[in-house]
Amino acid sequence: MPSRALVWMRRDLRCVDNAALYHALRRHEHVFCAFVFDTDILDALPSRSDRRVEFIHASVRELDEGLRALARHSGAPGGGLIVRHGAALRCIVELASQLGVQEVLTNRDYEPDAIARDEQVANALHAIGISFSDYKDQVLLDRDEVLNQQGKPYSVFTRYKRAWLAKLDEFQLKAYPVERYARNLAALPEGESIPTLEQLGFEKTNLTALPLPAGMQGGEQLLQDFLPRMEAYKEARDFPGRKGVSYLSVHLRFGTVSIRRLAAYAVQRAAQGCEGAQTWLSELAWRDFYFMILWHHPHVVTQAYRPEYDRVSWDDEPTLWQAWCEARTGYPLIDAAMRQLLQTGYMHNRLRMVVASFLTKDLGIDWRLGERFFARHLNDYDLAANNGGWQWAASTGCDAQPWFRIFNPVTQSQRFDPDGAFIRRYVPELARVPDRHIHYPAAMKARELAACGVRLGETYPMPIVDHARARQRTLMRFSFLGEEE
Ligand code: FAD
Repeated sequence: MPSRALVWMRRDLRCVDNAALYHALRRHEHVFCAFVFDTDILDALPSRSDRRVEFIHASVRELDEGLRALARHSGAPGGGLIVRHGAALRCIVELASQLGVQEVLTNRDYEPDAIARDEQVANALHAIGISFSDYKDQVLLDRDEVLNQQGKPYSVFTRYKRAWLAKLDEFQLKAYPVERYARNLAALPEGESIPTLEQLGFEKTNLTALPLPAGMQGGEQLLQDFLPRMEAYKEARDFPGRKGVSYLSVHLRFGTVSIRRLAAYAVQRAAQGCEGAQTWLSELAWRDFYFMILWHHPHVVTQAYRPEYDRVSWDDEPTLWQAWCEARTGYPLIDAAMRQLLQTGYMHNRLRMVVASFLTKDLGIDWRLGERFFARHLNDYDLAANNGGWQWAASTGCDAQPWFRIFNPVTQSQRFDPDGAFIRRYVPELARVPDRHIHYPAAMKARELAACGVRLGETYPMPIVDHARARQRTLMRFSFLGEEE
């Protein structure tokens, strides 16, 4: 009897250069592919209107077509994606047993909840005689692949990156040639169909109005758009008003682009001396770094990476918290950034650092609250990077910003949005404020404000805190730690 396998797709919504799919096709003669809209995850989402669910739904439909096309081109009888809506554990075990497969293959997840779920699935499958295997696909180097000379995980990024670059050879960057074995794609069982977004209990968002095309084609489009800009990445990446970054994060999150393909380009261009490519490659290293931290130190999900930092006493200030969440802080760059997040689900990296610093160091609010808020709103929300970013800004993390370095929201604004182009895009009520005042309109005289149609406290809020005083409070709050950095 020909051997059968099931590939369970999750954060790898592509049928090219996919590790688990490749291994399944190489080893088995009938390979089925499945995706589960997992009710354990979906039911916990606070809103029925979620751009991520819509993005996944569009990408799943495209993946189904991609698998069919792949099968057609290689003369396989079927192809396509089996889609289920239910608890992943039950759906995968039932499906594997109905299809009569000998093995379930998947690409590895590094989040503690996902690891626990996969262990349960593996145990349930083993109990009925089906094996379970997982593969590295989401990152370039994982788990124990990059360790220091003592065999321990790195805690300093620059050292990690040096070792990471040294290991990143041709083999690690090579694409998995899925198409070579695509003839082993099995025909779908009768009557399979993909539930609509409405059947999943979700409604359409503004996703299609955003410059965020879904699926493998969407990822490819953004990559092609970025490649000619890679050269300028080093100097353009910090300015939210300019198109300096790749915007590929959501595609990396759901695996609609291959990390190996991106890194291979960057390595090649970096070797030719392109500084933009070298800097971009560093960002991909940060991504691997935070996955590695989460895998080795899962306590970071709820606790500070450095335990002594959990002794920091945060303020409980519901009005300040609400003002931050609702983009009403009176600091234009902060408000513009928060509106970008709320309106599009994206926030530029420089702004993520600035608003996270503002919440923790100017408002004195626990980083965990901000981390959860981002988790709810970011299209590219990823536990490893988000937790890493928040703990970096709050100074509680691994290789984080030292606690006595505190961003000034006004000078950050003057430096990274000098002409206020970004602020004006998201805070149009300040559109007529001159460049020199746009970063802090509270410093303007009454007649200057009137001349640009701004009434502070009415059309635009007064600053909710005084930065200089807030800075002093933060220095006091952290001072018990000493300046060991
Ligand atoms: P580019 O500048 O084009 O970078 C390319 C890719 O490198 C990104 O797509 C991303 O995968 C990776 N990358 C870049 N910077 C970082 C970084 N600092 N840490 C880890 N990976 C990085 N990134 C997420 O993907 N998901 C998150 O939930 C997330 N939350 C963050 C929260 C905070 C407080 C901070 C400071 C950063 C966070 N980041 C997160 C990292 C970074 O801001 C985003 O990856 C980046 O803004 C995405 O835009 P881009 O794809 O245009 O990035």
